[in-house]
Amino acid sequence: MNVFKPYLLIACCALLLGSCTKSEPLYQEQIFALGALVDISIWGAKPALARQAAAALTEDFNRVHTTWHAWQPSALTRINEQLARPAAFPVAPELIPLLISARELSHASNGLFNPGIGRLLALWGFQSDERPNGPPPAAKAVAALTAQHPSMDDLHIEGNTLRSTNPALQLDMGAIGQGYAVDIAIEHLRRLGIQNAIVNASGDIRVIGNRGVRPWRIGIRDPQGPGIIASIEMQGDESIVTSGDYERYFEYQGKRYAHILDPRSGYPATGARSITVLHGNATVADAASTALMVAGETEWRQVARAMGIQQVMRIDHDGGVQITPVLAKRLRFEINPVPRVEIVAPL
Ligand code: AMP
Ligand code: MG
Repeated sequence: MNVFKPYLLIACCALLLGSCTKSEPLYQEQIFALGALVDISIWGAKPALARQAAAALTEDFNRVHTTWHAWQPSALTRINEQLARPAAFPVAPELIPLLISARELSHASNGLFNPGIGRLLALWGFQSDERPNGPPPAAKAVAALTAQHPSMDDLHIEGNTLRSTNPALQLDMGAIGQGYAVDIAIEHLRRLGIQNAIVNASGDIRVIGNRGVRPWRIGIRDPQGPGIIASIEMQGDESIVTSGDYERYFEYQGKRYAHILDPRSGYPATGARSITVLHGNATVADAASTALMVAGETEWRQVARAMGIQQVMRIDHDGGVQITPVLAKRLRFEINPVPRVEIVAPL
C-alpha cells in the first residue's frame, strides 16, 4: 500500500519500456518504500555503487514516509494537531521548504491544488489504510467543511514557525509527496556521482542522463485499460507525472467517486480521466497533474500556464485527448486505433 496513493496499481501506471541484455550496464532494483514499489534504474555505474545508491534511496523514501504520512503517526500528523489551534509552533527546519513550495504551487494553481483540504479527504474516507468505500459522506458535512475554505493562505510560515488562521486547515501532501520524494532521490543519486538513472515511484518519474546511446523510454498508462496509451523518450533531466481517476476511488450506485477532490465543491473532481505533465521538477509536475485534474475543460490551459507547465496530455471522459504542442511532437501512441487528438497550447 502506498502512503500517498494507496492501492495504486503501480505496475500499470508508467513503465520503463525496452528490454535489457546481460552485457548492458543497466542496474535495476525495486525497493518497497512509501508503502509501494519504487523502481530504480541506473545506467553505467559500477554495481557496488548502484547497490549503495538503491540502499540510500530506500532510506530517503522511508524518511519521506515517516515525515509526511497524513494519517499514520508522523511529523505531519503532529503538525496537523497543532494547526487545529491558533497558537504558533516550531517545526523541524527541514520541513519548511516543502511547505513553502506547496503553498506557492497552490497559489499558482488558483487553489485547485490545495494540500490544506485534509479534513475533506478524511471525510471522504481517502485518508485510510482501507480501500475507500461508499456511500459518499452526507452533503451537509461536505458543505460545512467546504464553507470553511481551508487554504494554504491560512498557513503562516515565519522562519521555522507555523501558525494557522483557520481551524479547518489540515495538511495532506498526497498530491505532491511522491514527486518530492523522487526529486530528493535524484539529487541523492547525483551526489553519489550517478549521472544516468530513472526513479519511478508509482508512476511519478524523474529521468537523468540517458540509457547509453539511447534516451530512456517511458510508457504512459491508458486510463481506460490495463496497458499503455503512449510512450515517450526522455533524457537529460526531466520528470513525467500522471494523475488519474482510476487510481483510488469507490463506486456507489453506479457512480465513481475518485480521490482527487475539487476544493471549491468538496466533491471528487470530474475534470478529466487522466492528466500527464512533464516538467523539470517532479514536485511541480506532481502538484500540476493534480491541479489539472480539478481544472476541467475550460480552465486547464490557463492553470497550466500559471503553473509554468508547457507539456500536458489530458484525456477526457469521452476518450478524447488534448496535447500541448511541445509534447505532441514527442509522444508516440501505442494503441490502435490512435485516439482522437486535439493539439492545444496552454493559454
Ligand atoms: P495525485 O495522484 O498526485 O493527483 O494525488 C492525489 C492525492 O492528492 C489524493 O489521494 C489526496 O491525498 C490528495 N488530494 C486530493 N485532492 C487534492 C487537491 N485538490 N489538492 C491537493 N491534494 C489533493
Ligand atoms: Mg499530483
